[in-house]
Amino acid sequence: MIIIREAERFRRFLGEKATGTSFGFVPTMGALHAGHLALLHRSKRETDKTICSIFVNPTQFNDPADFSKYPITLEDDIRMLEMTGVDILFLPDVHEIYPEGTASLETYDLGRMDQLLEGRQRPGHFQGVCQVVHRLLSVTRPDVLFMGRKDFQQCMVIRRLIHLKSIPVRLEICDTVREADGLAMSSRNMRLSPDDRSTAPILYDVLNRLKRGLDAGPLESRLRAGREALAAAGFRVDYLEICRTTDLEPVTEWDGHTPITALAAAFLGEVRLIDNIDLTA
Ligand code: AMP
Repeated sequence: MIIIREAERFRRFLGEKATGTSFGFVPTMGALHAGHLALLHRSKRETDKTICSIFVNPTQFNDPADFSKYPITLEDDIRMLEMTGVDILFLPDVHEIYPEGTASLETYDLGRMDQLLEGRQRPGHFQGVCQVVHRLLSVTRPDVLFMGRKDFQQCMVIRRLIHLKSIPVRLEICDTVREADGLAMSSRNMRLSPDDRSTAPILYDVLNRLKRGLDAGPLESRLRAGREALAAAGFRVDYLEICRTTDLEPVTEWDGHTPITALAAAFLGEVRLIDNIDLTA
């Protein structure tokens, strides 16, 4: 595996690439787990060369404590990437990504995505996500970008970024990889206390309960029961909502056929977990 730390060196490297070679790209913040590896395996199956990046992007953390406590496991990550057969690791420092600093970065018209769900709860988060992904795509220039459905709203934001900036890349969204007990894999899970780790799968249980026996009609009492179940288990609920899958607008009454998705964010201790489930798949 080639490790490239400088944007300029990446550009030179791409200048030498054989025409007709397809590149897949998986951006990450490291602390890699099987969810990341699933994206990388998919890229390896579907493209000729696979690029992974590891960069903990300061501009997408609205909570400084979350940023400073973000797990860093670089040696293990490099070992996992080598075992997976990744071709290129882009490992920039903050100056390579933001050479002009972070004070006056571009802002993006994300419409309602900046106001709904994660956009509402984490002001500035998706602007930061766009800043870093825009920059990473301009350096790595992949043909296919692989992202995880676990961060469903993020996928929709990036789809919008690709459209807004006419970036010549195809976005592929990959299914959420879960632990055996249903908890969505996440780098943040390693910060859960043993007690909180045993409570954490209840988030996915509650999402599944929303799906079971779902009928057309009002959704509010189901949602209330879900929020109460989470609170009773010890979660501090940021949101539990049912939204139209296409644009994430909240749905309070279901017509029985519009595609809908349930999305949740909740804290256990200091750790914020998110998850979602397609209710109409
Ligand atoms: P992160 O390192 O958390 O920024 O995640 C990097 C990429 O991996 C994003 O596209 C995430 O959506 C994806 N990802 C994270 N966790 C999972 C998971 N459990 N299953 C599938 N994809 C995931």
